Amino acid sequence: MDSSTYLDEDRHRSGRRFARRIYIPRTIGLGTGFFCVASVLVMQPISGWWWLLLVANAFIWPHLAWQTADHAPDPAQAEIRNLMIDSLMGGVWIGVMGLNALPSALILAMICMNNVGCGGLKLFFNGLGFIVLSCLLTLGLFLIPLNLQTMPSQVWICLPFLLIYPTYFGLVSYRTALKLSEHKRRFMHLSTRDGMTGVYNRRHWEHLLHGEYDNCQRYQRNATLLLIDIDHFKSINDSFGHDVGDEAILAITEHLQLTLRITDVVGRFGGDEFGVIMSGTSQESAIQAMARVRDYLDEFRLPHAPHFSLRISVGVAEFDHNMVSYREWLKAADVALYKAKKLGRSRTEVADIAA
Ligand code: GH3
Ligand code: MG
Repeated sequence: MDSSTYLDEDRHRSGRRFARRIYIPRTIGLGTGFFCVASVLVMQPISGWWWLLLVANAFIWPHLAWQTADHAPDPAQAEIRNLMIDSLMGGVWIGVMGLNALPSALILAMICMNNVGCGGLKLFFNGLGFIVLSCLLTLGLFLIPLNLQTMPSQVWICLPFLLIYPTYFGLVSYRTALKLSEHKRRFMHLSTRDGMTGVYNRRHWEHLLHGEYDNCQRYQRNATLLLIDIDHFKSINDSFGHDVGDEAILAITEHLQLTLRITDVVGRFGGDEFGVIMSGTSQESAIQAMARVRDYLDEFRLPHAPHFSLRISVGVAEFDHNMVSYREWLKAADVALYKAKKLGRSRTEVADIAA
């Protein structure tokens, strides 16, 4: 399936979700709105056809609208058309009621609220245009006299429409806002974390390192950076399989998280390489912390490779105010790691900052 087909499918799905989101509010709004309009029409000598149209609009149209949008090739577009039909019919009922004050104001307010909530100002103005046009046409074509006065009994009948629909609309907006913030939180997690280990991914970890570098420069603070690489990791993969290799990566992550301080920022830097930022920590303390990790690893055995002991090489670079960028700091730790590998692995080497 090519990417345009995926996009089309996605658009279709989100269009259907949009139409479904409107289905229940429309059913509630038109159901309660029916009584508002009916309370005025019972006082007017009008043809039975208007009553038929009112019943159809209030109780059949919401389901018909959902069905047509659901089966349309472009459900979102079909739903926009349905919203314009709502506006058109709203204008008709305002006209048939002879602009009776309260029901007319309520219908206008609810339709405008719905349109602006569904499609912003564009839909608001389009809908308003349809309401005004259909209202004027109804008044003119059927010569309906103005009937502005709302009676107290009609006010009471309009109350359910006035209370239920906006409350439901508010509830839907609130739920949508909750969902959005949850999506944002999940997106943030996905974009900053390594999928396998759950620690920060390289991009975000480097971003945090950049921040740490700026803080150290500005506030004359100290920090130490460590790069950790598993020794002979390829041979773990080759001898025991990729799954056991993955287990080793997870075990190292867990050991780092358990052994280091909560404020130490652990990131997976690459395949079998990790980075740790130790804020406010000297390189001596960082080396001691790594010794603790090594002690832990000496005792640790992978369940599927019980004779194999995990070893790591570590490059350590303490922050230095003469460094011109965080990249220079990172480079210093990388050179120290390379030195540790070159000098026989399973050791910690310190960056020679002056060099
Ligand atoms: P050295 O002691 O020099 O570090 O040797 P090494 O074998 O560990 O070499 P290197 O660090 O270059 O090897 C990294 C290997 O890690 C290469 C790649 O096949 C493997 N790798 C990278 N990502 C993953 C992963 O997510 N899971 C597993 N199982 N292996 C991975
Ligand atoms: Mg390695």
